[in-house]
Amino acid sequence: MSDCLFCRIVRGEIPAKVVYENDHVLAFHDIQPQAPVHTLVIPKIHVESLARLGAQQRELAAELVLGVQQVARLTGVESSGYRTVANTGAHGGQSVFHLHLHVLGGRPLSWPPGLAELGEACGYPPAGHFAGLRWSSLGCSTLGKDRRTRWQLRRRRQ
Ligand code: 5GP
Ligand code: ZN
Repeated sequence: MSDCLFCRIVRGEIPAKVVYENDHVLAFHDIQPQAPVHTLVIPKIHVESLARLGAQQRELAAELVLGVQQVARLTGVESSGYRTVANTGAHGGQSVFHLHLHVLGGRPLSWPPGLAELGEACGYPPAGHFAGLRWSSLGCSTLGKDRRTRWQLRRRRQ
């Protein structure tokens, strides 16, 4: 697709720090890394999302997964471990509509992955009010190795 951001990276029209490449896939560093290692593995042809990968594209699916393995090896996280994520559609948080697998590593990653989900794990809805204080999922953080969760209450402005 001519105006797709990642298609333009494949064509070399937009620069990217390439980690790995073969005939089918391209892997490059994410421009806004969320971990010391944050690489994206994409098909060289335009596929909108994981949901749009057809049953006839099995080989491409395998190439993407094998591309993740190569990235993990080349970025040095193969033995320490890493997370592979495919954000899909609106609720998945997809922002670039060219299929990509995120490879994240280089630090321990908490689970569940999203702050809103972490809020649900705390037993609270993602946002609300209590005793004149406002909480939001952004204030929910994981503390220490024992993975206790804590809600930071914020004073309401009004
Ligand atoms: P999504 O939110 O769709 O799962 O992930 C899209 C990712 O693409 C984001 O992590 C974002 O930082 C990354 N990204 C967006 N634009 C660019 C770009 O121009 N270059 C690179 N290398 N990464 C980008
Ligand atoms: Zn594309």
